[in-house]
Amino acid sequence: MSRFFSSKYSSLEPYTPGEQPRDMKYIKLNTNESPFPPSSAVIEAVREEGGRLQLYSDPECTPLVAKCAELYGVKKTQVLMTNGSDEILNFAFMAFCDKDNPIVFPDITYGFYPVFAELNGIPYEQIPLRDDFTIDVNDYIGINKNIVIANPNAPTGIALSLDEIEKIVKSNPNNVVIIDEAYVDFGAQSAVSLVDKYDNLIVTQTFSKSRSLAGARLGFGIACEALINDMNTIKYSTNPYNVNRMTMMAGYMALCDNDYYMNNCKTIIENRAYTKSALEALGFEVLLSSANFLFAKSDKITGEELYLKLKQNGILIRHFTKERIKDFNRITIGTLEQMKIFIQATEKIIREL
Ligand code: PMP
Repeated sequence: MSRFFSSKYSSLEPYTPGEQPRDMKYIKLNTNESPFPPSSAVIEAVREEGGRLQLYSDPECTPLVAKCAELYGVKKTQVLMTNGSDEILNFAFMAFCDKDNPIVFPDITYGFYPVFAELNGIPYEQIPLRDDFTIDVNDYIGINKNIVIANPNAPTGIALSLDEIEKIVKSNPNNVVIIDEAYVDFGAQSAVSLVDKYDNLIVTQTFSKSRSLAGARLGFGIACEALINDMNTIKYSTNPYNVNRMTMMAGYMALCDNDYYMNNCKTIIENRAYTKSALEALGFEVLLSSANFLFAKSDKITGEELYLKLKQNGILIRHFTKERIKDFNRITIGTLEQMKIFIQATEKIIREL
Protein backbone atom coordinates (compact mmCIF):
# COMPACT_ATOMS: atom_id res chain seq x y z
CA MET A 1 0.00 0.00 0.00
CA SER A 2 1.38 3.44 -0.85
CA ARG A 3 1.33 6.18 1.76
CA PHE A 4 -1.24 7.97 -0.41
CA PHE A 5 -3.94 5.28 -0.37
CA SER A 6 -7.08 6.68 1.20
CA SER A 7 -7.65 5.39 4.72
CA LYS A 8 -11.27 4.73 3.78
CA TYR A 9 -10.04 1.83 1.62
CA SER A 10 -7.12 0.62 3.68
CA SER A 11 -8.92 -2.46 4.99
CA LEU A 12 -10.80 -3.19 1.76
CA GLU A 13 -10.43 -6.81 0.67
CA PRO A 14 -10.96 -6.84 -3.08
CA TYR A 15 -12.91 -9.54 -4.92
CA THR A 16 -10.76 -12.41 -6.20
CA PRO A 17 -11.75 -13.35 -9.74
CA GLY A 18 -11.44 -16.98 -10.86
CA GLU A 19 -8.11 -17.97 -12.41
CA GLN A 20 -7.54 -17.01 -16.05
CA PRO A 21 -4.22 -18.84 -16.54
CA ARG A 22 -2.09 -18.48 -19.66
CA ASP A 23 0.56 -21.15 -18.93
CA MET A 24 -1.23 -23.90 -20.88
CA LYS A 25 -4.55 -24.71 -22.49
CA TYR A 26 -6.98 -25.94 -19.85
CA ILE A 27 -10.49 -27.26 -20.06
CA LYS A 28 -11.92 -24.24 -18.28
CA LEU A 29 -14.72 -25.18 -15.94
CA ASN A 30 -13.92 -22.53 -13.32
CA THR A 31 -15.60 -19.21 -14.16
CA ASN A 32 -19.03 -20.16 -15.51
CA GLU A 33 -18.33 -18.97 -19.04
CA SER A 34 -20.20 -20.47 -21.98
CA PRO A 35 -18.32 -23.18 -23.87
CA PHE A 36 -20.02 -21.93 -27.06
CA PRO A 37 -18.70 -18.99 -29.12
CA PRO A 38 -20.87 -15.98 -29.91
CA SER A 39 -23.12 -16.40 -32.96
CA SER A 40 -21.53 -15.52 -36.31
CA ALA A 41 -23.71 -12.40 -36.65
CA VAL A 42 -22.27 -11.12 -33.35
CA ILE A 43 -18.68 -11.71 -34.47
CA GLU A 44 -19.31 -9.99 -37.83
CA ALA A 45 -21.02 -6.99 -36.17
CA VAL A 46 -18.12 -6.53 -33.75
CA ARG A 47 -15.63 -6.61 -36.63
CA GLU A 48 -17.57 -3.92 -38.47
CA GLU A 49 -18.02 -1.73 -35.41
CA GLY A 50 -14.26 -1.81 -34.88
CA GLY A 51 -13.98 0.58 -37.83
CA ARG A 52 -15.95 3.23 -35.91
CA LEU A 53 -13.99 3.18 -32.68
CA GLN A 54 -12.78 6.75 -33.19
CA LEU A 55 -16.26 7.81 -32.06
CA TYR A 56 -17.65 7.66 -28.53
CA SER A 57 -20.34 5.09 -27.90
CA ASP A 58 -24.00 6.01 -27.47
CA PRO A 59 -24.37 6.65 -23.71
CA GLU A 60 -28.03 5.63 -23.89
CA CYS A 61 -27.32 2.36 -25.78
CA THR A 62 -30.46 3.19 -27.80
CA PRO A 63 -30.91 0.17 -30.15
CA LEU A 64 -29.69 -2.31 -27.54
CA VAL A 65 -32.04 -0.96 -24.86
CA ALA A 66 -34.95 -1.00 -27.33
CA LYS A 67 -34.26 -4.62 -28.31
CA CYS A 68 -33.89 -5.70 -24.70
CA ALA A 69 -37.12 -3.93 -23.67
CA GLU A 70 -38.96 -5.64 -26.54
CA LEU A 71 -37.62 -9.08 -25.62
CA TYR A 72 -38.42 -8.74 -21.90
CA GLY A 73 -41.77 -6.96 -22.37
CA VAL A 74 -40.89 -3.77 -20.49
CA LYS A 75 -40.58 -0.08 -21.39
CA LYS A 76 -37.25 1.30 -22.70
CA THR A 77 -37.16 3.57 -19.66
CA GLN A 78 -37.07 0.48 -17.43
CA VAL A 79 -33.75 -0.82 -18.77
CA LEU A 80 -30.17 0.21 -17.93
CA MET A 81 -27.16 -1.34 -19.71
CA THR A 82 -23.86 -1.63 -17.86
CA ASN A 83 -20.28 -2.84 -18.09
CA GLY A 84 -21.04 -6.37 -16.93
CA SER A 85 -23.71 -6.96 -14.32
CA ASP A 86 -21.06 -6.24 -11.68
CA GLU A 87 -21.45 -2.59 -12.64
CA ILE A 88 -25.24 -2.45 -12.23
CA LEU A 89 -24.89 -4.22 -8.89
CA ASN A 90 -22.40 -1.58 -7.76
CA PHE A 91 -24.68 1.20 -9.07
CA ALA A 92 -27.56 -0.28 -7.05
CA PHE A 93 -25.45 -0.50 -3.88
CA MET A 94 -24.29 3.10 -4.41
CA ALA A 95 -27.74 4.45 -5.23
CA PHE A 96 -29.85 2.77 -2.55
CA CYS A 97 -27.61 1.78 0.36
CA ASP A 98 -25.73 3.83 2.95
CA LYS A 99 -25.06 3.75 6.66
CA ASP A 100 -28.76 4.30 7.40
CA ASN A 101 -29.88 1.85 4.71
CA PRO A 102 -27.90 -1.36 5.22
CA ILE A 103 -28.12 -4.45 3.04
CA VAL A 104 -28.51 -8.16 3.75
CA PHE A 105 -27.64 -11.24 1.71
CA PRO A 106 -26.94 -14.94 2.34
CA ASP A 107 -23.67 -16.03 3.97
CA ILE A 108 -22.94 -18.24 0.98
CA THR A 109 -23.47 -16.24 -2.20
CA TYR A 110 -21.68 -14.15 -4.81
CA GLY A 111 -18.44 -12.94 -3.24
CA PHE A 112 -18.71 -9.47 -4.70
CA TYR A 113 -21.64 -8.37 -2.50
CA PRO A 114 -19.56 -7.83 0.67
CA VAL A 115 -16.93 -6.06 -1.45
CA PHE A 116 -19.48 -3.60 -2.90
CA ALA A 117 -20.74 -3.00 0.63
CA GLU A 118 -17.23 -2.42 2.04
CA LEU A 119 -16.24 -0.23 -0.90
CA ASN A 120 -19.22 2.05 -0.37
CA GLY A 121 -19.15 2.05 3.45
CA ILE A 122 -22.46 0.18 3.69
CA PRO A 123 -23.22 -1.91 6.79
CA TYR A 124 -24.25 -5.44 5.82
CA GLU A 125 -25.47 -8.64 7.39
CA GLN A 126 -24.95 -12.14 6.06
CA ILE A 127 -27.86 -14.46 6.75
CA PRO A 128 -26.85 -18.14 6.98
CA LEU A 129 -28.28 -20.54 4.44
CA ARG A 130 -29.95 -23.62 5.93
CA ASP A 131 -27.75 -26.69 6.44
CA ASP A 132 -28.82 -27.98 3.03
CA PHE A 133 -27.65 -24.68 1.45
CA THR A 134 -31.18 -23.49 0.63
CA ILE A 135 -32.36 -19.97 1.43
CA ASP A 136 -35.00 -19.78 4.14
CA VAL A 137 -37.41 -17.23 2.69
CA ASN A 138 -38.79 -16.49 6.17
CA ASP A 139 -35.43 -14.95 7.09
CA TYR A 140 -36.13 -12.15 4.59
CA ILE A 141 -39.85 -11.55 5.17
CA GLY A 142 -40.35 -8.02 6.49
CA ILE A 143 -36.65 -7.71 7.37
CA ASN A 144 -36.87 -3.99 6.62
CA LYS A 145 -33.38 -3.75 5.12
CA ASN A 146 -32.24 -3.68 1.51
CA ILE A 147 -31.72 -7.18 0.13
CA VAL A 148 -29.63 -8.74 -2.63
CA ILE A 149 -30.27 -12.35 -3.60
CA ALA A 150 -28.70 -14.24 -6.48
CA ASN A 151 -31.36 -16.42 -8.08
CA PRO A 152 -30.22 -19.08 -8.79
CA ASN A 153 -27.75 -18.61 -5.96
CA ALA A 154 -24.02 -18.93 -6.55
CA PRO A 155 -22.03 -21.05 -5.96
CA THR A 156 -24.79 -23.45 -4.88
CA GLY A 157 -26.92 -23.24 -8.05
CA ILE A 158 -30.10 -23.58 -5.98
CA ALA A 159 -33.05 -21.41 -7.10
CA LEU A 160 -36.01 -19.87 -5.30
CA SER A 161 -39.42 -19.96 -7.01
CA LEU A 162 -41.03 -16.80 -8.35
CA ASP A 163 -43.62 -17.03 -5.56
CA GLU A 164 -40.89 -17.03 -2.94
CA ILE A 165 -39.17 -14.05 -4.56
CA GLU A 166 -42.48 -12.18 -4.67
CA LYS A 167 -43.10 -12.82 -0.97
CA ILE A 168 -39.73 -11.24 -0.14
CA VAL A 169 -40.29 -8.22 -2.40
CA LYS A 170 -43.86 -7.68 -1.21
CA SER A 171 -43.00 -7.89 2.47
CA ASN A 172 -40.30 -5.20 2.25
CA PRO A 173 -42.07 -2.34 0.46
CA ASN A 174 -39.82 0.33 1.96
CA ASN A 175 -36.57 -1.32 0.91
CA VAL A 176 -34.95 -2.18 -2.38
CA VAL A 177 -34.73 -5.85 -3.30
CA ILE A 178 -32.12 -6.72 -5.93
CA ILE A 179 -32.55 -10.09 -7.63
CA ASP A 180 -29.31 -11.02 -9.38
CA GLU A 181 -30.34 -13.32 -12.24
CA ALA A 182 -26.89 -13.93 -13.73
CA TYR A 183 -27.77 -17.63 -14.19
CA VAL A 184 -31.55 -17.44 -14.68
CA ASP A 185 -31.54 -18.72 -18.27
CA PHE A 186 -30.36 -22.15 -17.13
CA GLY A 187 -33.62 -23.12 -15.48
CA ALA A 188 -34.89 -20.60 -12.89
CA GLN A 189 -37.94 -18.32 -13.08
CA SER A 190 -37.22 -14.66 -13.79
CA ALA A 191 -38.68 -11.91 -11.63
CA VAL A 192 -38.81 -9.45 -14.56
CA SER A 193 -42.57 -10.11 -14.70
CA LEU A 194 -42.86 -8.42 -11.27
CA VAL A 195 -41.16 -5.09 -11.99
CA ASP A 196 -44.38 -3.31 -12.97
CA LYS A 197 -46.08 -4.52 -9.80
CA TYR A 198 -43.36 -3.57 -7.29
CA ASP A 199 -41.51 -0.25 -7.28
CA ASN A 200 -38.82 -1.68 -4.95
CA LEU A 201 -37.60 -4.49 -7.22
CA ILE A 202 -34.46 -4.47 -9.39
CA VAL A 203 -33.67 -7.48 -11.56
CA THR A 204 -30.13 -7.72 -12.92
CA GLN A 205 -28.94 -10.02 -15.68
CA THR A 206 -25.76 -10.56 -17.67
CA PHE A 207 -24.65 -11.44 -21.20
CA SER A 208 -21.61 -13.24 -19.70
CA LYS A 209 -23.12 -16.68 -19.22
CA SER A 210 -26.09 -17.67 -21.42
CA ARG A 211 -25.13 -15.22 -24.18
CA SER A 212 -21.44 -16.11 -24.55
CA LEU A 213 -20.14 -12.55 -24.02
CA ALA A 214 -18.14 -12.71 -20.77
CA GLY A 215 -15.19 -11.02 -22.47
CA ALA A 216 -17.32 -8.18 -23.85
CA ARG A 217 -18.59 -7.09 -20.40
CA LEU A 218 -22.30 -6.45 -20.72
CA GLY A 219 -25.02 -6.63 -18.10
CA PHE A 220 -28.29 -4.84 -17.45
CA GLY A 221 -30.92 -4.01 -14.92
CA ILE A 222 -34.70 -3.93 -15.26
CA ALA A 223 -36.82 -2.05 -12.72
CA CYS A 224 -39.44 0.68 -12.48
CA GLU A 225 -38.51 3.95 -14.15
CA ALA A 226 -37.72 5.79 -10.91
CA LEU A 227 -35.15 3.19 -9.78
CA ILE A 228 -33.57 3.18 -13.25
CA ASN A 229 -33.38 7.00 -13.17
CA ASP A 230 -31.57 6.90 -9.81
CA MET A 231 -29.04 4.38 -11.10
CA ASN A 232 -28.59 6.53 -14.21
CA THR A 233 -27.67 9.42 -11.91
CA ILE A 234 -24.85 7.22 -10.58
CA LYS A 235 -23.86 6.11 -14.09
CA TYR A 236 -23.70 9.67 -15.46
CA SER A 237 -21.67 10.68 -12.38
CA THR A 238 -19.08 7.95 -12.90
CA ASN A 239 -18.85 6.65 -16.47
CA PRO A 240 -21.41 7.82 -19.05
CA TYR A 241 -19.82 5.74 -21.85
CA ASN A 242 -19.81 2.60 -19.74
CA VAL A 243 -20.69 0.28 -22.64
CA ASN A 244 -18.26 0.43 -25.54
CA ARG A 245 -19.31 0.41 -29.21
CA MET A 246 -18.27 -3.16 -29.96
CA THR A 247 -19.97 -4.55 -26.89
CA MET A 248 -23.14 -2.63 -27.67
CA MET A 249 -23.30 -4.16 -31.16
CA ALA A 250 -22.43 -7.60 -29.81
CA GLY A 251 -25.25 -7.38 -27.27
CA TYR A 252 -27.74 -6.12 -29.85
CA MET A 253 -26.97 -8.95 -32.28
CA ALA A 254 -27.00 -11.51 -29.46
CA LEU A 255 -30.57 -10.47 -28.62
CA CYS A 256 -31.50 -10.72 -32.33
CA ASP A 257 -30.07 -14.26 -32.31
CA ASN A 258 -31.96 -15.24 -29.17
CA ASP A 259 -32.86 -18.73 -30.45
CA TYR A 260 -29.19 -19.68 -30.90
CA TYR A 261 -28.42 -18.77 -27.28
CA MET A 262 -31.52 -20.35 -25.78
CA ASN A 263 -30.69 -23.56 -27.66
CA ASN A 264 -27.20 -23.48 -26.16
CA CYS A 265 -28.82 -23.15 -22.72
CA LYS A 266 -30.86 -26.30 -23.43
CA THR A 267 -27.67 -28.15 -24.30
CA ILE A 268 -26.01 -26.94 -21.09
CA ILE A 269 -29.01 -28.13 -19.07
CA GLU A 270 -28.71 -31.59 -20.69
CA ASN A 271 -24.96 -31.68 -20.05
CA ARG A 272 -25.61 -30.65 -16.43
CA ALA A 273 -27.96 -33.62 -15.98
CA TYR A 274 -25.34 -35.96 -17.45
CA THR A 275 -22.60 -34.57 -15.20
CA LYS A 276 -24.75 -34.66 -12.05
CA SER A 277 -25.64 -38.34 -12.57
CA ALA A 278 -22.06 -39.26 -13.39
CA LEU A 279 -20.74 -37.49 -10.26
CA GLU A 280 -23.41 -39.12 -8.11
CA ALA A 281 -22.40 -42.51 -9.52
CA LEU A 282 -18.88 -41.70 -8.25
CA GLY A 283 -20.30 -41.06 -4.78
CA PHE A 284 -20.41 -37.25 -4.89
CA GLU A 285 -23.09 -35.22 -3.18
CA VAL A 286 -24.32 -32.78 -5.82
CA LEU A 287 -26.69 -29.89 -5.03
CA LEU A 288 -29.75 -29.39 -7.24
CA SER A 289 -28.62 -26.75 -9.72
CA SER A 290 -30.64 -24.40 -11.92
CA ALA A 291 -27.43 -22.72 -13.14
CA ASN A 292 -24.63 -23.52 -15.62
CA PHE A 293 -22.55 -25.12 -12.87
CA LEU A 294 -22.73 -27.82 -10.23
CA PHE A 295 -21.64 -27.61 -6.61
CA ALA A 296 -20.38 -30.98 -5.45
CA LYS A 297 -18.36 -32.71 -2.76
CA SER A 298 -17.03 -36.19 -2.11
CA ASP A 299 -16.13 -37.73 1.23
CA LYS A 300 -13.27 -39.58 -0.50
CA ILE A 301 -11.26 -36.47 -1.42
CA THR A 302 -11.09 -32.91 -0.15
CA GLY A 303 -12.28 -30.06 -2.35
CA GLU A 304 -8.78 -28.65 -2.52
CA GLU A 305 -7.12 -31.95 -3.45
CA LEU A 306 -9.57 -32.64 -6.25
CA TYR A 307 -9.12 -29.11 -7.58
CA LEU A 308 -5.29 -29.45 -7.54
CA LYS A 309 -5.26 -32.92 -9.11
CA LEU A 310 -7.65 -31.90 -11.88
CA LYS A 311 -5.49 -28.85 -12.55
CA GLN A 312 -2.47 -31.14 -13.04
CA ASN A 313 -4.63 -32.97 -15.58
CA GLY A 314 -5.39 -29.74 -17.47
CA ILE A 315 -8.88 -29.23 -16.06
CA LEU A 316 -9.76 -26.13 -14.04
CA ILE A 317 -12.64 -26.08 -11.58
CA ARG A 318 -13.32 -23.57 -8.77
CA HIS A 319 -12.47 -24.24 -5.16
CA PHE A 320 -13.44 -21.81 -2.40
CA THR A 321 -11.59 -21.66 0.91
CA LYS A 322 -14.51 -20.34 2.98
CA GLU A 323 -14.99 -22.73 5.92
CA ARG A 324 -18.61 -23.71 5.23
CA ILE A 325 -17.99 -24.70 1.62
CA LYS A 326 -14.35 -25.75 1.56
CA ASP A 327 -15.25 -29.41 0.94
CA PHE A 328 -17.08 -28.46 -2.24
CA ASN A 329 -16.02 -27.54 -5.74
CA ARG A 330 -17.95 -25.56 -8.31
CA ILE A 331 -17.84 -27.12 -11.75
CA THR A 332 -18.95 -25.07 -14.77
CA ILE A 333 -20.93 -27.06 -17.31
CA GLY A 334 -19.19 -27.14 -20.69
CA THR A 335 -19.71 -29.20 -23.82
CA LEU A 336 -20.59 -32.88 -23.44
CA GLU A 337 -17.09 -33.77 -24.63
CA GLN A 338 -15.52 -31.56 -21.93
CA MET A 339 -17.77 -33.03 -19.26
CA LYS A 340 -16.86 -36.59 -20.30
CA ILE A 341 -13.16 -35.72 -20.00
CA PHE A 342 -13.81 -34.15 -16.59
CA ILE A 343 -15.71 -37.22 -15.37
CA GLN A 344 -13.03 -39.64 -16.65
CA ALA A 345 -10.27 -37.63 -14.96
CA THR A 346 -12.23 -37.42 -11.69
CA GLU A 347 -12.95 -41.15 -11.75
CA LYS A 348 -9.24 -41.90 -12.28
CA ILE A 349 -8.19 -39.55 -9.46
CA ILE A 350 -10.62 -41.20 -7.05
CA ARG A 351 -9.63 -44.70 -8.13
CA GLU A 352 -5.94 -43.96 -7.53
CA LEU A 353 -6.42 -42.55 -4.02
N1 PMP B 1 -23.71 -12.19 -10.25
C1 PMP B 1 -23.29 -13.44 -10.03
C2 PMP B 1 -24.05 -14.30 -9.09
C3 PMP B 1 -22.12 -13.93 -10.66
O1 PMP B 1 -21.69 -15.16 -10.41
C4 PMP B 1 -21.43 -13.08 -11.55
C5 PMP B 1 -20.21 -13.60 -12.29
N2 PMP B 1 -19.03 -13.56 -11.64
C6 PMP B 1 -21.90 -11.79 -11.73
C7 PMP B 1 -23.05 -11.37 -11.08
C8 PMP B 1 -21.19 -10.78 -12.58
O2 PMP B 1 -21.05 -11.14 -13.90
P1 PMP B 1 -20.69 -10.12 -15.03
O3 PMP B 1 -20.09 -8.88 -14.39
O4 PMP B 1 -19.76 -10.83 -15.92
O5 PMP B 1 -22.00 -9.79 -15.68
